[in-house]
Amino acid sequence: MASIDTLLRSLTSESNAGERLPKSNGVLDITEVFGSNVFSDKVMKERLPKDTYKALKKVMEQGAPLTLEVANVVANAMKDWAIEKGATHYTHWFQPLTGKTAEKHDSFISPTTDGSVVMEFSGKQLIQGEPDASSFPSGGLRATFEARGYTAWDCTSPAFLKTDAAGNVTLCIPTAFCSYTGETLDKKTPLLRSMEAVSKQAIRVLRALGNRTSNRVVSTVGPEQEYFLIDKKHFDQRIDLVTSGRTLFGAPAPKGQELEDQYFGAIKDRISAFMKDLDTELWKMGVSAKTKHNEVAPAQYEMAPIFSTTNIAADHNQLVMETMQKVALRHDLVCLLHEKPFAGVNGSGKHNNWSLATDDGANLLEPGKTPHDNEQFLLFLAALITAVDRHADKLRAGAANPGNDLRLGANEAPPAIVSVFLGEELTDIVESLGKGKKASSKGQNFLNIGVDTLPSLPKDNTDRNRTSPFAFTGNKFEFRMVASSASISGPNTILNTIVAEALDEVATRLEKAKDINKEAAAIVKDAIVQHGRVIFNGNNYSEDWLKEAKKRGIPNIRSTVDALAAMNSPEAIKLFEKYKVLSKEELHSRYEVYLENYAKHINIEAQAAITMANLQYFPVVSRFSGCLAGTVSSLKAAGVSAAVQKEHLTKVQALLASAVGKLEALEAATQKAQALSEAHAKAVAFRDKVFTAQAALRADIDVLETLTPKDMWPVPTYVDMLFGF
Ligand code: ADP
Ligand code: MG
Repeated sequence: MASIDTLLRSLTSESNAGERLPKSNGVLDITEVFGSNVFSDKVMKERLPKDTYKALKKVMEQGAPLTLEVANVVANAMKDWAIEKGATHYTHWFQPLTGKTAEKHDSFISPTTDGSVVMEFSGKQLIQGEPDASSFPSGGLRATFEARGYTAWDCTSPAFLKTDAAGNVTLCIPTAFCSYTGETLDKKTPLLRSMEAVSKQAIRVLRALGNRTSNRVVSTVGPEQEYFLIDKKHFDQRIDLVTSGRTLFGAPAPKGQELEDQYFGAIKDRISAFMKDLDTELWKMGVSAKTKHNEVAPAQYEMAPIFSTTNIAADHNQLVMETMQKVALRHDLVCLLHEKPFAGVNGSGKHNNWSLATDDGANLLEPGKTPHDNEQFLLFLAALITAVDRHADKLRAGAANPGNDLRLGANEAPPAIVSVFLGEELTDIVESLGKGKKASSKGQNFLNIGVDTLPSLPKDNTDRNRTSPFAFTGNKFEFRMVASSASISGPNTILNTIVAEALDEVATRLEKAKDINKEAAAIVKDAIVQHGRVIFNGNNYSEDWLKEAKKRGIPNIRSTVDALAAMNSPEAIKLFEKYKVLSKEELHSRYEVYLENYAKHINIEAQAAITMANLQYFPVVSRFSGCLAGTVSSLKAAGVSAAVQKEHLTKVQALLASAVGKLEALEAATQKAQALSEAHAKAVAFRDKVFTAQAALRADIDVLETLTPKDMWPVPTYVDMLFGF
């Protein structure tokens, strides 16, 4: 009997393989559109002389030095290609510590002696740029008198064209960004370094296991991006959304997500039109947008691309976020990437699907078909478990930002505790190995190979645990804590580095071992004994887990300010310096930048809240009180009881008085926090005093919203924003 799997397979990929959409009759030919704005391998092959192409591939794949001669030829071909497609400018596209991307456009024009211009782009301009970078955060790495920052071409990520609604076409060259003295000022360089580190150690493990064919190991990532869309006319009326990205006030709508009718629900036409445009724009830039659907909260959605190497995935995720915001505006929508734009309904995250793959195409987290493959798989799994347990605090730091503080630990998102989900069958196996037993499989869904010291493994892990922050999902791990608005470079830099360390240890043991199989079993056993506590397959949202995690000694770090410390500790410095990913100074600068960033965010929220209270809520509530008072007098004059109106007025006035008091407290707390200069003390003050004062003010205003006529309320409500389009 054909299984449902076989049936599904025949219905999907295989039977449709090679099918092309018709080119005429207005239907989009995706195969033509995809990558049409990318200076891809195909384009390079077509346009570069054979020798240059070969030399460049060597640089890209083996890290060989890039000569100016090669760069000159590539630059010229790139320019011609870009100009044919309408480009007038180029930019070194980089990723400063803001977590966003930065670009400064230069046109290709170059003057000639007769007063006309020619279009030029040299190898030197391709390889290196020197933007005046004094306004980017550097955490003291670049003194202001030495404002120079350098951008350097990252040829492992393809150049592409960005277009805008006005018809501007810009050639974007992905670059790394560093200071005059060579310290990194960006998110890309450490990521590239961490990819090198994990590749080197993974290859050592593979060599020790007898692999002679793989030369590089790459970390692969598929980031699922969650986001909200709301009507632009509502967004424009909310000072909080415009300035801070989230609603700082708003009474809950009568309906939230309790009916569970949004998740995977039919996509509304207006949203579908947006998604279609988004897909097309992304495909043009070579971003493999694949999956789109409604998410759990009202007005919330998700887009997932097909995974790629981490470096490209990080670049592409930046393009995804930017394009979502741009395309939304074309549909009179605004895309909110904030982790918690609305209280009371789900926030947004980024599910960072991560694995390791060899350059000859093997996924190292894929349970194998042979005992040898399984040995390899279990060793990599053991390294992962070791890394996550040992450095849970650093992973947590990688997911820390002010928005995520509102999300992690709340009841709809992974808690702030980092644990690993393996699924029951795999856990049984590793636990038995930890006890020194030869594990046997009890489920049916096992590969039937049990002939060596290592057991057969589950074929497929369907037991998906949606509450786990770090879940094994069959052939990859899904790190679900990552902040929706953040760059994925930071978390993946940390992940790659901590895994590099664990693999280094595995490799060292294997290299010294007389009996590889025995040692492999011992390594897996030791990892489980020492780090098995991090495995948790239950409900991560339950109260019991909080207690259990505490008992097991697993950290529960609730706020960004506390989490960031893990990346500035002596232990972190030792680790990141050892694998040449980040130096002490680079770690420290990031710590400072992120603390400052936290304080700035909370400060912006406080300023927005103060403005809204003073200029919108208080005047409206006062006016309403006046109306009520007028009604009370008129009713009294008419000899009618005004008891109800008077009671309402008293309630409103009491709340208003309370809110005014809370506003004063917020203003005072903000001023005090602003006056502090030391970064940590300042961030703590913003968290403990300002953030809490602002939440207190919100509580009163939200009740006032429920007592004030809708037509008087000065801003769109949760109903308007979440359901009103
Ligand atoms: P779900 O929502 O069910 O978790 P999605 O299809 O939305 O799944 O997202 C899964 C993501 O994982 C996709 O981006 C996919 O390309 C990615 N992925 C699949 N295999 C790997 C892998 N080996 N390494 C990294 N990412 C992967
Ligand atoms: Mg998904």
